[in-house]
Amino acid sequence: MIDTIRKKEKKLRKVFSLYIRLRDAIATTGNITYCRCVTCKRSVRVTSWELHAGHCFQGKNLWSKYNEQNVHAQCMQCNYDTETQWKKEIHMDYIEKTYGKNVLHDIQNQYNNISEISIADINDMIHDYKQRIQNIKDTYLLPAKDDGF
Ligand SMILES: [Zn+2]
Repeated sequence: MIDTIRKKEKKLRKVFSLYIRLRDAIATTGNITYCRCVTCKRSVRVTSWELHAGHCFQGKNLWSKYNEQNVHAQCMQCNYDTETQWKKEIHMDYIEKTYGKNVLHDIQNQYNNISEISIADINDMIHDYKQRIQNIKDTYLLPAKDDGF
């Protein structure tokens, strides 16, 4: 059972990360090829290993880990730099400006919530993100065959 959840979660992590990078690419550049890092604003290819789906608050539980409002496209350097306070503050500011103060507060509460996520929840989320990725691809036509998705 644990193995199945782990396997499923790995799949969820993959589709969730791609969805976040595509969503933020559209929001920051208007296309799905390049995306700007939420923290340093550097432009990175969506399919590059240097572009991550970075958490503002590190997920202790799966609900905060897969909370879309807690996760934004971030370059590898900014994502790995958890020590620099101003970088975290930029991400927090972005969340507050984009979704409001209440959402920032909710995410911080959720961070402490220890309720478990079920395999049915994970399956639903995988299905949902796949659909949303497909919708984005259908809307923003892919450039060439070497898009890497
Ligand atoms: Zn960055």
